[in-house]
Amino acid sequence: MASLTGAACITVKIGSALLVDSCSGKLRRDWLQSLSDDVANLKSCGSSVVIVSSGAIVLGCRALNFTPGNLSLEQSQAAAAVGQIRLARAYEEAFAPHNISTAQVLVTLEDSHNRRRYLNSRATMKTLLSLGVIPIVNENDTIATDEIRYGDNDRLAAQVAVTVGADRLILLSDVDGLYSSDPTVNPNAKHLKQIREITEQVEKMAGDTSSSLSKGGMKTKILAAKTAVSAGCAMVITLGTHNNPLKKLDKNGKSTWFLPQLDPQVARKRWIAAMKPAGSVLIDGGAAQALKTGKSLLAAGVRGVTGAFERGDPVSILDSRKFALGKGLIRYNSSETLAIKGCRSDEMEEILGYPSHATLIHRDDMAL
Ligand code: GLU
Repeated sequence: MASLTGAACITVKIGSALLVDSCSGKLRRDWLQSLSDDVANLKSCGSSVVIVSSGAIVLGCRALNFTPGNLSLEQSQAAAAVGQIRLARAYEEAFAPHNISTAQVLVTLEDSHNRRRYLNSRATMKTLLSLGVIPIVNENDTIATDEIRYGDNDRLAAQVAVTVGADRLILLSDVDGLYSSDPTVNPNAKHLKQIREITEQVEKMAGDTSSSLSKGGMKTKILAAKTAVSAGCAMVITLGTHNNPLKKLDKNGKSTWFLPQLDPQVARKRWIAAMKPAGSVLIDGGAAQALKTGKSLLAAGVRGVTGAFERGDPVSILDSRKFALGKGLIRYNSSETLAIKGCRSDEMEEILGYPSHATLIHRDDMAL
């Protein structure tokens, strides 16, 4: 049975319906405080935590005297701009008693689809986590237009979980899990504790339920589960309306777990291995040896470059006999790689004209 115990990295998605009282439109501060206590506890047990939070639009509506649910695109974008500042402040205040810093991270669909931006947001969030900071992520609703929009934070949360390599994704919701059919319509609907495979039948069980405040229904949660489990991350849907929702989940609270077949690192390596390379780097014997012992590829070990590629593109890694050792996501484009091949880190800044890192392909971005 899956649980939170031993999780290295947990992503928690919080919907607007939990954070904001649907009648008054006010922030539920006591609830948020109880959530921050739970998160601080998970951190003290060794897990890093990323929060994906909705609530910007609804908080902005209250400030601007708008009625949620009946807004033009421009109005909801304006509401998001006003509300996001309040949302970020609420988290900052809730975590202050625990001496935990929070960071605001606003993303759009492009940040996961464009590999260069994906690598950037992964690096930033990983740096924040290594500093003990909790990234508070939301969609950048103010600038996101339809083509570059997730539209719901369930799928955004799954993508964030994949980006940071989380091994657990918790969707705190106003439902306590997946049922064999809609429990609000069918009183005999059966609650499902665990899903090992997302079959067509499972997808059919997800109706199109949604509350007036939240964008995602069960369908978007199943889509989120597909993304998470295929990247090796277990996902759980549980009721989050009561105080200390994570503590309750940890104590066997009612929920539905979606279980992955692989762990996140293995899944990531398979994902990289399946990519079509945009070019290749030829490396020397010393670097080839270092890669086999689990090290990253440094510019110093590169002898040649073929193809035209951008930062974040997959490239083949070839040894001195041009034998393919594996693939990796490269951190410099092809002309930069050509310019710095064979260089030590202290020589790179002068060549490139900006402070730079000697790692060309990080070991986490490599599949041998
Ligand atoms: N990004 C939206 C907000 O913060 C919410 C999207 C959702 O509820 O899924 O208001």
